[in-house]
Amino acid sequence: MKQYDVIVVGGGHAGVEAALAAGRMGCATALVTFRQDDLGVMSCNPAFGGLGKGHLVREIDALDGAMGQAADFAAIQYRLLNRSKGPAVQGPRVQADRARYRTAISDIVAQASRVDVIEAEVTALSLTGQTVTGVQLNGDTTLNATSVVLTTGTFLGGKVFIGEQTFPAGRMGNSASTILAQQLRGLGLPMGRLKTGTPPRLRGSSIDWAALETQPGDSDPAYMSFLTSRTIAPQIACAITHTNPRTHDIVRENLSRSAMYGGQIEGVGPRYCPSIEDKITRFADKTSHQIFLEPEGLDSDTVYPNGISTSLPAEVQAEYVKSIQGLEQVEILQPGYAIEYDYIDPRALDLSLQLSALEGLFMAGQINGTTGYEEAGAQGLVAGLNAACRAQGRAPLQFGRADSYIGVMIDDLTARGVSEPYRMFTSRAEYRLSLRADNADQRLTALGVQWGCIGPERQAAFEKKMNTLESARAELRARSFTPGQLRSAGYKISEDGVRRSALELIGLSGFGFEAIDVLAPELGEIPQDTREQISKEVVYSAYLQRQESQIAALRSDEARAIQDDIVYSDINGLSRELADKLTRARPKTMAQAARIDGMTPAALVLILARLKDRD
Ligand code: FAD
Repeated sequence: MKQYDVIVVGGGHAGVEAALAAGRMGCATALVTFRQDDLGVMSCNPAFGGLGKGHLVREIDALDGAMGQAADFAAIQYRLLNRSKGPAVQGPRVQADRARYRTAISDIVAQASRVDVIEAEVTALSLTGQTVTGVQLNGDTTLNATSVVLTTGTFLGGKVFIGEQTFPAGRMGNSASTILAQQLRGLGLPMGRLKTGTPPRLRGSSIDWAALETQPGDSDPAYMSFLTSRTIAPQIACAITHTNPRTHDIVRENLSRSAMYGGQIEGVGPRYCPSIEDKITRFADKTSHQIFLEPEGLDSDTVYPNGISTSLPAEVQAEYVKSIQGLEQVEILQPGYAIEYDYIDPRALDLSLQLSALEGLFMAGQINGTTGYEEAGAQGLVAGLNAACRAQGRAPLQFGRADSYIGVMIDDLTARGVSEPYRMFTSRAEYRLSLRADNADQRLTALGVQWGCIGPERQAAFEKKMNTLESARAELRARSFTPGQLRSAGYKISEDGVRRSALELIGLSGFGFEAIDVLAPELGEIPQDTREQISKEVVYSAYLQRQESQIAALRSDEARAIQDDIVYSDINGLSRELADKLTRARPKTMAQAARIDGMTPAALVLILARLKDRD
């Protein structure tokens, strides 16, 4: 019987980051998972990043996690979402080749020191009183450890639904974790059921691509990892098609046969990833919905139709899919399905993701009521670091709302819990102007070095980058100009007698680095990526003060009364979903509104502005 410092149960996105983090911290770590092949499997969409989620990938990467580098190795299309908006709300996203992602993750895990992968089912936790001491494998072997991290994803009590058909499974083709689920239910932990769904997979060679609009990737990719400097895999285009009134009729006529709508599933699903059944019911006035046809890999003939997840019977899926332009002759390789699974109410966890009721047991990923690879990976990192700290007798490591999206997520989960699968959005972060994807390394890597979870390659790359940045900032700060000098060089500036540094001028309209190149050509040595970074910082510094005052206003206005006749659906910018929740809940004060599940700081600012308008 081997004694480990940390045992991680589950080799999904949370489990891999947890095991790697514990290993980097110097702990002897076992990663126990059903199958060696589990590592790097994407259960649903072949993509990483996006709005809010891209921030999480960069933060995982900043702390030397695996997701960013593996996503860059697998990336077959890069797109920076919200490119036309400010950097704070831009979301780097990649479409990823499934096989390449698995290869990359398996290689990283194989090369990690101190991480053993064990192929087995964990059937029980070993307990001594209220403390976890290890796990039992396949009902007969015991592994001991000081800390155990549970990352069972959609497998805990997992049940798949395709129309009227249902069977136990962790995802299509994989067994569910039913024995462990029984033990956890028996321990009296606060648990519930959630659900999610996935679309049918299509044979690429049966799609009429010529009939469809294509969507190429970006020509100047925003990489997922701070260590990536070039595009690795060949890049491809996706295609776009749309549902139509005929598609909607077929879905509507068969709604009673959908597992999600026929009442077979008790769990709550993610409103942010609606199934085609949800879209047609909730947005009944729309006659068309967009579908992205995303090839699943360079050597794969499978295509993921993003936007039509479903739990209708297979024959109905075939009928509605064939009603869509370009898919008239399509072959379905695997029908879409829904899955329902157990989760633990994350309010039972502390900020280190340790269960308050059972010492030594940490939880991360879908088991905590979240959805998405990025949310899972980020929690895995937190749980792995803290499981390691416990094993080493060190104090827990905490992430705050002001330093990272990871901190926002952990705080949201542990303080508010979830009423539907939780996913990250930039609007959840009150400090989003300072928590940008581009500065995740500046916010977290130095902390990671202090904690001991950063490898030598990243530490060296980070120090080099910071030295270049700091010396560029210092040079720009040291060079300054009077209004007279600027005006005689042809720039418009008020005659206020104030000397302005080159750094300040970069942030002023009509200046930028182009002006500095002319005014101070001796500073021309600053590399392009450093220039881009400094430009973002300078532009944002002006807004940071506004961010601070908005947050202060929110805090001071918590007791403010909300009149009963306020019409939430009339507030511009407030999502339909939050407007519905507020209309139903009718909070009496701003503090009550803030506690509504899914409420965001950005939405509170909008409500507050409406109340002030009425004063
Ligand atoms: P998983 O990736 O599920 O990994 C769990 C791992 O634990 C597996 O490797 C499993 O083998 C292992 N395991 C479980 N129990 C045991 C045990 N007892 N012993 C040993 N090993 C065990 N995300 C989105 O963002 N949007 C979506 O629309 C979406 N739709 C989805 C649809 C479906 C049908 C599924 C299955 C998932 C979907 N997801 C979606 C969720 C996404 O797959 C997960 O959020 C993510 O994979 C969670 O990562 P995880 O590490 O928590 O769990």
